[in-house]
Amino acid sequence: MSAIIIRNGRVIDPANKRDEVADLAILNGQIAQTSEVRGQTSEIEEIDANGLIVCPGLIDMHVHLREPGFSHKETIESGARAAAAGGFTTIVCMPNTSPPADNPATIAWIKDRAAEVASVNVLPTGAISRNLEGEELAPIGSLGQAGVVAITDDGHCIQNHELMRRAVEYARMVGLPVLDHCQDYNLVGNGVVHEGYWSTLLGLPGWPAAGEEAIVMRDILLAELCDHHIHCQHVSAAGSVRLIREARARGVKISGEVCPHHIALTDEAVENFNTNYKINPPLRSQADVEAILEGIADGTLTILASDHAPHAAFEKEVEFDAAPFGIAGLETELGLFLNLLVHKCLNIDIGRLIEMYTIEPAKLLKLDAGTLSMGALADVTLIDPNLEWTVKIENFQSVSRNSPFDGWKLKGRAVRTIVGGETVWKL
Ligand SMILES: [Zn+2]
Repeated sequence: MSAIIIRNGRVIDPANKRDEVADLAILNGQIAQTSEVRGQTSEIEEIDANGLIVCPGLIDMHVHLREPGFSHKETIESGARAAAAGGFTTIVCMPNTSPPADNPATIAWIKDRAAEVASVNVLPTGAISRNLEGEELAPIGSLGQAGVVAITDDGHCIQNHELMRRAVEYARMVGLPVLDHCQDYNLVGNGVVHEGYWSTLLGLPGWPAAGEEAIVMRDILLAELCDHHIHCQHVSAAGSVRLIREARARGVKISGEVCPHHIALTDEAVENFNTNYKINPPLRSQADVEAILEGIADGTLTILASDHAPHAAFEKEVEFDAAPFGIAGLETELGLFLNLLVHKCLNIDIGRLIEMYTIEPAKLLKLDAGTLSMGALADVTLIDPNLEWTVKIENFQSVSRNSPFDGWKLKGRAVRTIVGGETVWKL
């Protein structure tokens, strides 16, 4: 028997339309009534949450854990620790591992490994195509049976629209959402930064916004044709926001997610050729940033995620063209979004931010998570929304340090992460 009472926090539980200062009780790993806990004879752990937000454990549905295959960048264990330190109790990992997660055996391996070593819930996705090559479909039905929560070729993008159509149809049959990294290979070519003023000035190959928008448009057409949900990952371009907004207004099952770097930075940041600013899709223009902020405010873009993409220093310390894309984002995303959306922009309130990290991904992926309902698994995040702190990459739990936010002063941070009633991380 274990009993916990989290005292006097501001409990925000969007699933139950709850926002009030109250106590939250946990009994044997589940959310309970405070009266049930008081009846316990065993010792009760008390946590003072005065001045803190107590919310359902946050979910990051876009994380690269790099295992199997690239444990020098991240492992399931270290990635889970980074997630816990960021306030996340559930993370969804991408299939571009080695071997890729395009078969039930790899999914079983990831799940077993996570059960052994991960301090947070790790939910795998499966690949859409075999070996992420975009040529033939992965066994989507078997992946579903193996327990993936979605299919995606993230990092890659199926170029053949007919193959993608069949993937969406299979996914519909087995009840899995489709997540898409939207990139038209012909339009993007070898682009490494947003095509515009800075790519021209710096002489770096451009990655045009149309390269994303073309695939977002394709996904809208297929979502409509197949009557099934397609989720556009890491939306970066104003045109994508407009397309998704129009399609959603017509009832198309399309959605989009936002990563913090796409609103924290613009393409100007690449002027010093620092590869920590190299990300796919790339940092874009101020107009794109503003369109994404509008998309968040009006509910077009419904999900926040990190696209946590850890890389070793030796891999990033090469010329810009040759460096891998990505930012290690799990430990900075909440602070960045709190700053950019709630403290500075005031374009959403903290309740909506929590929704975008809890019930929105839970609904999309049909997860039994993201709520503080009685009897729910006690995954809880405690956030100090006003805590001022400085990002220090040397303090990261992640194996990797590739963050452009080192030294940034942020306001707001998770201070305790509880998974199934157990504190897995505490500031
Ligand atoms: Zn991606």
